[in-house]
Amino acid sequence: MDRIAVFPGSFDPITRGHESIIRRALPLFDKMIVAIGENGEKRSFFPLERRLEWLHQIFGREPGIIIATYTGMTIDFCRRENAGFILRGLRTSADFEFERSIGQMNKLMHPDIETVFFLCAPEYASVSSSIVRDIIKNGGDVGQFVPDGITI
Ligand code: ADP
Repeated sequence: MDRIAVFPGSFDPITRGHESIIRRALPLFDKMIVAIGENGEKRSFFPLERRLEWLHQIFGREPGIIIATYTGMTIDFCRRENAGFILRGLRTSADFEFERSIGQMNKLMHPDIETVFFLCAPEYASVSSSIVRDIIKNGGDVGQFVPDGITI
């Protein structure tokens, strides 16, 4: 059976931190679905089309990576896609606490799906989409925080 992982996120915008986790984890899986979760309650800064376009620019020619969007629970999306793994990145203990409850509740609901955590690379430990957004709102240059080859 293929090892299929979902890397869910808002990617609002995608950062070098996200890109690094995806590339480091890719060899573990036969297929990775990088998926933008559309959550009705959480309004994004960048429109979905823009966020999708960046993912296609960065990973579109990468064998083994599929770009997708979904609504509803990540775990249900995994079931629909036959994915056995959810990939998440950890930067801080706050990330860990947040991810722990979601991961454990997911485990109770769907014991067959495993959440896999990757420790953030040290150089990206402070990189977050929310701070990148703040820099953009204030007219700063975010080139060093977002993947090469995309224009924000
Ligand atoms: P969400 O809204 O689901 O938290 P994000 O797009 O903010 O979506 O993040 C998606 C995943 O990427 C999460 O697991 C998050 O912890 C991880 N992540 C975010 N920034 C970084 C980073 N700098 N390094 C490693 N992982 C990161």
